[in-house]
Amino acid sequence: MTLFEKIIARQIPADVVFEDDQVLAFRDINPQAPTHVLVVPKKAIPRIGEAGTDDQALLGHLLLRAAEVARRLGLDRTGFRLVINNGSDGGESVPHLHVHVLGGRALAWPPG
Ligand code: AMP
Repeated sequence: MTLFEKIIARQIPADVVFEDDQVLAFRDINPQAPTHVLVVPKKAIPRIGEAGTDDQALLGHLLLRAAEVARRLGLDRTGFRLVINNGSDGGESVPHLHVHVLGGRALAWPPG
């Protein structure tokens, strides 16, 4: 069971900001911006590179919910960034697909 499956199952506590039948959104434990939330599909897809065509609707839902979370947290006025890390060079540390929602400050580009 991945760390995020344990959070979804409420075996590990998290600061949940949004939930529906397909996704859970909670605050990142090590925030990289004033607002840093992870939006996680309840289905345990390891990473975006391993998602399949069967996951098409879920992936669309995940992005729409990430944007909704950003709106609910007031980030749409100032802007925000969605990030998906894939594999070691991508900076992935938890092998359960998740979208980072980052905002509350101006974010640098390109990323480090
Ligand atoms: P990534 O590096 O893209 O795989 O993102 C994993 C994220 O999960 C990191 O930003 C971590 O800070 C975050 N994280 C790890 N453990 C927890 C936890 N128990 N609750 C909330 N966020 C976590």
